Amino acid sequence: MEKFDVVVIGAGAAGLFCAAQAGQQGLKVLVVDNGKKVGRKILMSGGGRCNFTNLYIEPAAYISANPHFCKSALARYTQWDFIDLVGKYNINWHEKTLGQLFCDDSAQQIVDLLMAECELGKVTLRLRSEILDLQRHESGEYLLKLNGVNVSTRKLVVASGGLSMPGLGATPFGYKVAEQFGLSVKPVSAALVPFTLHKPILDTLQQISGVAVPITVDAADGTRFKESMLFTHRGLSGPAVLQISSYWHPGQAVTINLVPDTDIHSFIEAQRSEHPNLSLKNSLACLLPKRLVDSLVELSLLPEVTLKQLNSRQQQQLVEQLTAWAVYPNGTEGYRTAEVTLGGVDTQHLSSQTFEARDVPGLYFIGEVVDVTGWLGGYNFQWAWSSAWACAQALGNA
Ligand code: FAD
Repeated sequence: MEKFDVVVIGAGAAGLFCAAQAGQQGLKVLVVDNGKKVGRKILMSGGGRCNFTNLYIEPAAYISANPHFCKSALARYTQWDFIDLVGKYNINWHEKTLGQLFCDDSAQQIVDLLMAECELGKVTLRLRSEILDLQRHESGEYLLKLNGVNVSTRKLVVASGGLSMPGLGATPFGYKVAEQFGLSVKPVSAALVPFTLHKPILDTLQQISGVAVPITVDAADGTRFKESMLFTHRGLSGPAVLQISSYWHPGQAVTINLVPDTDIHSFIEAQRSEHPNLSLKNSLACLLPKRLVDSLVELSLLPEVTLKQLNSRQQQQLVEQLTAWAVYPNGTEGYRTAEVTLGGVDTQHLSSQTFEARDVPGLYFIGEVVDVTGWLGGYNFQWAWSSAWACAQALGNA
């Protein structure tokens, strides 16, 4: 039986950062992961360049049954702290859009940073390890049976992430540990994920797969995003759609404004007086990709008329179609392509200062396994860093 001060389950963003910070406080730390590589999601993230944080981190960009839970950690370890750390490792970065910060070169640099920090903390790493059994002894010690070795610790940190991308090692391990120790788990679902569409509408829109347009999109609860939408061979994707997917529930519509920056009434009036014989289709092709306009006509969402033939009822209807197109997704592409998992370990059981379970001393949950889900754009990695840092401070003080 090998003894550690801290055992961290999961060598992802949160687990590695927490282990490094705890180790640097003199604690003997073990990180266990089922994969053969550390930080697999980091390597995949941001198209290989890792969108590691966002300039505009704020609690309102996080979804949780308790919207206040994330505030303390985000305020104590901020985006500026992580940007400083990135600077210490001479990692060059750039802002892409909306405050999203990416490595200039490669996501590997963030993994290297985390591994260098772990080395400073003399962290032990066990990859390709399954946790075959986990018990809490009445002495307060956690006993873990791993393949090949048994370990014990008084502090167990669960950083095993959510369910998205099972191909990258995602498992429900963290939720099962929570339940084993009497903590409830908020229902989980795939988030930051493309929508799939029903057959008839998909058949038409498939033809424009690859077309992207700037839109606003509203969820049923009024949440709105203004970004671009991409038509795909399965449905809808692009940043606007990924963002709104976190606020969508099956059976609901999302409302899309295809012309968010145009007063469409005035546009039609001006076009009609200048080019009365122009077809509506060709007129709208000044605003939208022509293939999209053709598809909207094919779906009978727009009438096939000239501008002078357009009557006021049709004009009203077309304005509604273009500015408030109600789309009912069939579903989402699910965990296979989702960037994150909504829901998770119920924050009511955890301290927002230390991330320790209130009723289970020595048991901690950090990162995505917790019921805190960020927007697209570096918010989820910042949650990993902030929750990991706050937890590590508590481990050092305990
Ligand atoms: P993870 O990084 O998922 O780490 C969990 C670790 O636990 C994994 O290594 C896993 O192998 C291990 N594990 C799981 N189960 C077990 C088990 N039973 N036993 C042992 N080990 C186990 N967020 C951003 O902010 N910016 C981005 O650019 C971005 N891009 C993304 C791109 C993709 C393709 C994906 C899938 C996600 C992206 N995200 C991004 C989200 C971000 O990757 C996650 O929110 C973040 O990695 C969560 O960190 P974590 O440490 O909590 O979990």
